[in-house]
Amino acid sequence: MSHVQILDVEKSFQGRQVLKNINLQVEKGEFVTLLGPSGCGKTTLLRIIAGLERCDGGKIFVGGKEIMQGLSKKEQNIGMVFQSYALFPNLTAYENIAFGLKINKVPSHEIRQQVGDIMAVLSITGKENNYPHQMSGGQQQRVALARALVTKPDLLLLDEPLSAVDAKVRESARSLIRDIQKKMGITAIFVTHDQLEALVMSDRIVILDSGEIMQQGKPEVIYNKPANRFVANFIGSYNFLPGGMVGLPDKEVEVCIRPEHLTITKKDHLPQGEDTSLYYLQGTLINLYILGNTIRAEVSVQGKTLLVDRLNDFQGSDVVLNEEVRLQFSKNVINPLVGKN
Ligand code: ATP
Repeated sequence: MSHVQILDVEKSFQGRQVLKNINLQVEKGEFVTLLGPSGCGKTTLLRIIAGLERCDGGKIFVGGKEIMQGLSKKEQNIGMVFQSYALFPNLTAYENIAFGLKINKVPSHEIRQQVGDIMAVLSITGKENNYPHQMSGGQQQRVALARALVTKPDLLLLDEPLSAVDAKVRESARSLIRDIQKKMGITAIFVTHDQLEALVMSDRIVILDSGEIMQQGKPEVIYNKPANRFVANFIGSYNFLPGGMVGLPDKEVEVCIRPEHLTITKKDHLPQGEDTSLYYLQGTLINLYILGNTIRAEVSVQGKTLLVDRLNDFQGSDVVLNEEVRLQFSKNVINPLVGKN
């Protein structure tokens, strides 16, 4: 049996349905991310799993036990880290982390040992006597994580725990959370609206839109084989072309191609030999800019702007703004979206 079972969960607020027929299983030790735009219902689902919110229909089981609102933290053994950290402002880092153990009446010498151990793992040793306002955002976030982990929860729920820290801290915190979760073998459900974070951290991503699951799968499946236009639009960038444009007989088919799968050359660049697995389009280069490790070109093709990415290899570009260019792509990078929106 899966560690977490979410069966037909429904939820409405003031007559407006915000979760529709959610079915999701999470395996023991798995790291699953709920990803979707603001307001799609991620936090509501997490709060229902935590027993902080009641669902209108459906059931949730964690470790075979049904989750019901009002169960104590000890009965549920679920750890939660919030976006705001939710640390007690009048308690030191040590006291914040020790809080759950004290409630569980763990002997004080064991509390000292366990808090010391988890602080070392999270590299916050030395901050024991600091109050939240005396710590940086990144340090507070580690204290919040330590507080959730020190009770060795069966299930860790993380609600955008990295959104308030800067980009550099965020990057290292991603690996830290993932490493600890793997080492401790904890099942984790992570909420974010940041697609990169989801791709980097997850065993499985669940994409939500307007309270419904759009697709779930491994990061590479979500990225390479989007189930519909919403997922294709939400993860990375895509070019959408009507099927007729690439010679497919069925006019209902829309095809999507990643910018990194298009190659841009000068218009008169002649391909080597007759390669029937390649398609070509002609257009005008209307914009060229650096995204960091990639260079993005915008090419107008029959009134439609297509994006083309290539590695920023310091070679410069042989194509010039406002000139005619040729785009090339191979058959196997085409993703058909048939009759889906
Ligand atoms: P975000 O990424 O912005 O946090 P989210 O995907 O986590 O968004 P939720 O917080 O789950 O979305 O909210 C889903 C919908 O339910 C939203 O339209 C929100 O306004 C509404 N909602 C959430 N909590 C309540 C509440 N207590 N009362 C009324 N409406 C609510």
